[in-house]
Amino acid sequence: ASGYTLLRNPQYNKGLAFNEKERDAHYLRGLLPPTCVSQELQEKKIMHNLRQYQVPLQRYMAMMDLQELNEKLFYKLLIDHVEELLPIVYTPTVGEACQKYGSIFRHPQGLYISLNEKGRILEVLRNWPERNIQVIVVTDGERILGLGDLGCQGMGIPVGKLALYTALGGVHPSACLPVTIDVGTNNEQLLNDEFYIGLRRRRATGQEYTELLVEFMNAVKQRYGEKFEDFANHNAFELLAKYRKTHLVFNDDIQGTASVVLAGLFGALKIVGGTLAEHSFLFLGAGEAGTGIAELIALEMSKQTKAPLEETRKKIWMVDSKGLIVSSRKDSLQHFKQPWAHDHEPVNNLLDAIKAIKPTVLIGSSGVGKTFTKEVVEAMATFNESIRFNPLVPLYRLQKPIILALSNPTSQSECSAEEAYTWSKGRAIFASGSPFDPIEYDGKVLVPGQSNNAYIFPGFGLGLVISGATRVHDDMLLAASEALAQQVTQENLDKGMVYPPFSNIRKISAHIAANVAAKAYELGLASRYPHPKDLVKYAESLMYNPVYHQYR
Ligand code: NAP
Ligand code: MN
Repeated sequence: ASGYTLLRNPQYNKGLAFNEKERDAHYLRGLLPPTCVSQELQEKKIMHNLRQYQVPLQRYMAMMDLQELNEKLFYKLLIDHVEELLPIVYTPTVGEACQKYGSIFRHPQGLYISLNEKGRILEVLRNWPERNIQVIVVTDGERILGLGDLGCQGMGIPVGKLALYTALGGVHPSACLPVTIDVGTNNEQLLNDEFYIGLRRRRATGQEYTELLVEFMNAVKQRYGEKFEDFANHNAFELLAKYRKTHLVFNDDIQGTASVVLAGLFGALKIVGGTLAEHSFLFLGAGEAGTGIAELIALEMSKQTKAPLEETRKKIWMVDSKGLIVSSRKDSLQHFKQPWAHDHEPVNNLLDAIKAIKPTVLIGSSGVGKTFTKEVVEAMATFNESIRFNPLVPLYRLQKPIILALSNPTSQSECSAEEAYTWSKGRAIFASGSPFDPIEYDGKVLVPGQSNNAYIFPGFGLGLVISGATRVHDDMLLAASEALAQQVTQENLDKGMVYPPFSNIRKISAHIAANVAAKAYELGLASRYPHPKDLVKYAESLMYNPVYHQYR
């Protein structure tokens, strides 16, 4: 291969970091200026350049350019500056990038499968240069991060998520395949945008949609075997239910969210005490996120207490846009809400529901901001009050209300960290979907947790890969939650943190991967034998490392 091509291959390019010997051996003489630099200096320079950009979207574009120019450097940067760069490469900036994807489009990333490719998807997969694919992230762009239908421009999501599978979870970049399925868009603005990159037609639905999906799922299995697919999709419940039996699939919105929130609850219980079954839960919002989380909590309770799911579900209540979900509403409820319709008289707002249920845990998952009002937080604080000297009140009710405000983005958060802490007089244990800064209350620094799915999915994916898992089982989600919660230290808990600091994410991911893999072996769902002895070490040893190779 010529030096010229080497410099243009992102997998091998090192730019100025090619040393004298390499420049001689690989026909690079003259193609680079005389200076040789270290990867560290390159990293320093790029961070310096990135920080010059005031607009996050410009940082995003610079990062995407780097990914296409020098892959190792891109991942080195992402790993070493994860807290600073995650919001650029992933949410929230990636959302804006998707909205403007057509006009900022420079080089194609990922694989586009549109209705035009119907009948020849297998051929299309063969155009992708890598044969050994381990993780596929696929979207149809219909519901991107609460931004709605972005059609073909949803590609930013699979690209960004897979960057995290690699940077945070250590899955090799060449084993990652981002896919966007383009069945049209109902977004008028995009349909009329001259820079739109997708099919200019309204969304295919029904049979036309299903047929394309079926062909895609079959083609993937035929070409790559049992591969791990992460769906970002509006038809999530149906697709998950349909394909989890025949494919190795995962829906991050449902399963990843459930796992990360359960981990946060495990963390919170380390502070307030009691078991899951001793707590009671009230959700505001009974959609994909809310019911997915509720189901996993009920499952874990049922494992712990040996009580059937039908019983443990009764500890969990939900409020949707029409009020408390109760049995008298059952006939008019969507199927995924029905398990949560318990016997109770109708209650039509959140505050009254709190007064009626007196939950110890309040979880917001409605997508609507400012719904945990002062009255709501105060009610939670009152019902979870320190009533000392009363032996009849169980311990877990004696201390602190657990409040999770999961709705994204920040503007949609049910309440801010500051509101949760001040309105509860510093007693709330608080975590949120969007990040909030630590708050000083009464001389004490309180650090809110962020229930970011990025804690879970990279390590989860790695766990499936290293065990060669053939199906995703809910027990693996529980295993991931446990592993994440185990990484929370007493020092973290003392500050109110129910999640470990994100800066340790590679170590966290290795532990999650190991626990998920162990569960896969236990359930007989693994295919990689022999079973490695020390799974954490094994996971760590397989994680992609972005340090440059010396070429000879
Ligand atoms: P979804 O499927 O659309 O569900 C929304 C639910 O909220 C529905 O049950 C809806 O009621 C209910 N709702 C809407 N407005 C309401 C109101 N004013 N009062 C009471 N209930 C209301 O949405 P989703 O996919 O579950 O996502 C919900 C939120 O969770 C989003 O903001 C998302 O960003 C966030 N989320 C966070 C994480 C995380 O923290 N890691 C992960 C995933 C999602 P009806 O059913 O009656 O319409
Ligand atoms: Mn939904």
